[in-house]
This record gives sequence, C-alpha cells and structure tokens, in this order.
Amino acid sequence: MTGLELDGVTRAFEETTAVDDVSLSVRDGEFFTLVGPSGCGKTTTLRLIAGFEPPDAGDVRFGDESMTGVPPEERDVGIVFQTYALFPHMSVAENVAYGLRFRDPPAGQTTEERVDELLELVDLGGFGDRDPDELSGGQQQRVALARALAPGPSVLLLDEPMSALDARLRERLRVQVKQIQSDLDITTVYVTHDQSEALAISDRVAVLNAGQVEQVGTPEAVYREPASRFVAEFVGDNNVFDGALPVETEGSSVRVQDVEFHVEEAIDGRTTVCVRPENLLFDCNTNQFPVRVENVEFLGDAYRAHCDWDGRDVLVKTRDEPPSGDAVVGFDPADATLL
Ligand code: ATP
Repeated sequence: MTGLELDGVTRAFEETTAVDDVSLSVRDGEFFTLVGPSGCGKTTTLRLIAGFEPPDAGDVRFGDESMTGVPPEERDVGIVFQTYALFPHMSVAENVAYGLRFRDPPAGQTTEERVDELLELVDLGGFGDRDPDELSGGQQQRVALARALAPGPSVLLLDEPMSALDARLRERLRVQVKQIQSDLDITTVYVTHDQSEALAISDRVAVLNAGQVEQVGTPEAVYREPASRFVAEFVGDNNVFDGALPVETEGSSVRVQDVEFHVEEAIDGRTTVCVRPENLLFDCNTNQFPVRVENVEFLGDAYRAHCDWDGRDVLVKTRDEPPSGDAVVGFDPADATLL
C-alpha cells in the first residue's frame, strides 16, 4: 500500500495554467476526492498522477518514490474513466482479463481465477460470458472497476466514473465503490464536479478552483468550516453575507445592513458571515432579521424557502412548511462561520 504526494505540481497549456503549484498529500488507503467546477484542473491533476501528463514543475511521489520519468504502465495505478471504455467485441471476462495484459495475476492464481475473484468483488459473479452491451451502465462501470483492479494496483484513480449514470444508479454505485475501496484498503483518488457526491464518498476532499487548492479536509470540515468564500459557496447551499464591523463594537459582532449579528468565533477583522440554510430558523430569537418568503420548494424531507432581505437572496431550509410573505428568521451565534 502506498500514499501519494503532489509537491508544487504545475501544468500549463498555452495560456491556461490547468494545475497551478498544487501540493497534496493522499494517505495510504485513503479515499481522497478532487472536487471543483468544470475546468478547475481535476482531470489534469489525475492525469499527472497517472503519468499521462508530465508536470512543468514539481514532483509526483508514490510513497517515497518520485514518479518523474516513470511511464503510466509502470506506475502501479488502476484507472476508471467517465465513459465505460469496455471493449464491445470482448466478453465481460475478457475485458477484466485485459487488465492483466502488463502483469501476471497475484501469485498462485490463474487469470481465470483472478477474473472470477474480481467479478465477485464487484458483485457481478456469473456475468463473465456476457457481452458488455447486455449490461446496464452501472454494471459496465463495475466491470471497468474490476478491470482496473485486476493487476492489484497500489493506487486507484477514478475520473467521474458515475457521471454518465442516472441519479439513483449513481447513489447505489457510490456505496458499492466506497465499500470495495475500503475492503481493499486501496489508496484512491476520485474526481467529481458533484460536491454532494464528494461529501458522501470521501475520507477527505480537496476543493479546487482555477488550478489551485482552496481547501483540504474531511467532508465535515469542508462543509462546516469553509476556508474561503469559494468553498462556502461551492460546497452545499449557503448564505454568505458581507458585513462590516459595527462602529462601536465590544467584540463579537458583525453588522450586515442595519442588523448586528452576534457570533461565537473571534472576529479577527473578518466581516463575511456564512450561515447554512438549515441553520436559519423561523422561530429563533437570536440574530433575527426580516425576510420576505418568495418561493418555497418541497424537497420531500424538507422545504427550501427562497427569501429576500432588502435585495439580498436568503435560503432557508426547514422541516416544517415555512410561512408565506413577511417573516423573521434568526440563527444561533454558534452556527455562523466567519470569512
Ligand atoms: P471538467 O470537470 O470539465 O472535466 P476539469 O476540472 O477536469 O474539468 P481539466 O480537464 O483538468 O479540468 O482542465 C483544466 C483546464 O485546462 C481547462 O481550462 C482546460 O480547457 C485546459 N486543458 C486541459 N487539457 C488541455 C489540453 N490538452 N490542451 C489545452 N488545454 C487543456
């Protein structure tokens, strides 16, 4: 097993710096996700790790070993891409066996035994003789995963492997992928633009923006303690209020419009207040401010109210049906994050 490290890695294409001085450390056996909007450099980072792209500067290391100059087929990585990329003219078993073209199966196993073991692992035991086009999208991606895992790589790289699937299938497959990853305890780097998928599946995530790392942390940390405005707005719904320090302040408050919000964190000159929609409450008597409820969506397990506060958009998420028209919302000082 191997952790991996990116140390000051940069990769530019003409005028775009796709990956800009990125340093990351992925632990042995960790499920680590690169998440960010389209074009932020996720795929290029993965390609740098795989060896399909050379860095212009910096180094990629597996364990203590520099990968500079090591071609992809010698890097001990398994890769699954967005599109299934199975060979249509080969059976499922032949597709998985193709993963062993550069490497023998682990000691004591025949190719056939290894293929059967991998198909069992991805819950497709008995599907070996089928053609790929007889399988659903989710099953095809599990075959692609089995193929990537067949040689027993130390590192697994997954580039948006579920984005071509419908939402329900994606949710099922992500549970299976996470289970397989943790059973094998394989160091995994996963790429997605879907922040909710990143939160659901990862041990830690790196949020990327314009080729740079905005924040690295557990899903909980990134959600609850965003380190930047970009993270606060990209990961989950949020209310981000730009305020100012009150003229006469005795410490822990920030003025937004003409309301003084009390917060628990030390202000340290920070005046942007972030409050998650689920932490804004219609029946809270601290940090109250007036809103007009303009639109309510029913989400099944909650309601999401789109409100207006003197021209500012405010999102409120509640279990109970929100009032309509003019209302007052508030939040607990402990539920605000400062930027
Ligand atoms: P997406 O989610 O859309 O796949 P991404 O976050 O994976 O995006 P990359 O594919 O890594 O982003 O691309 C980052 C930037 O680098 C983009 O602006 C892209 O246009 C540019 N880029 C990537 N590969 C090349 C290339 N081979 N030649 C020129 N520009 C490239």
